[in-house]
Amino acid sequence: MKKVYSANSLMEAHLVLDLLEHAYISARLFNVHAQGVMGEIPFTHAYPEVWVIRDEDFVRGREVVSAYEQAPIEPGTVRCPVCSEENPRNFQLCWQCGAGLETVLY
Ligand SMILES: [Zn+2]
Repeated sequence: MKKVYSANSLMEAHLVLDLLEHAYISARLFNVHAQGVMGEIPFTHAYPEVWVIRDEDFVRGREVVSAYEQAPIEPGTVRCPVCSEENPRNFQLCWQCGAGLETVLY
């Protein structure tokens, strides 16, 4: 496993994870909870992290991440039709519940 991204927020971490999965790269989130699963992780190091499962996906994963980092941030949010969570407009799936967001765009 290799870390491809440190996110500033849980929402960003979910967006990157979603992008990786669309590129058929298996990835996992770590530090999803501020306290961390491991009691010894200091709070200040507990930014959400995205790790690829297979080391050989690392280069491709980094390409996905840098494409995301260079993409302009689309203004506005989309409200999930299922759980009413606000999602960034470029999300395809609700970060909270995983419901598809495409339908609300039309
Ligand atoms: Zn939702």
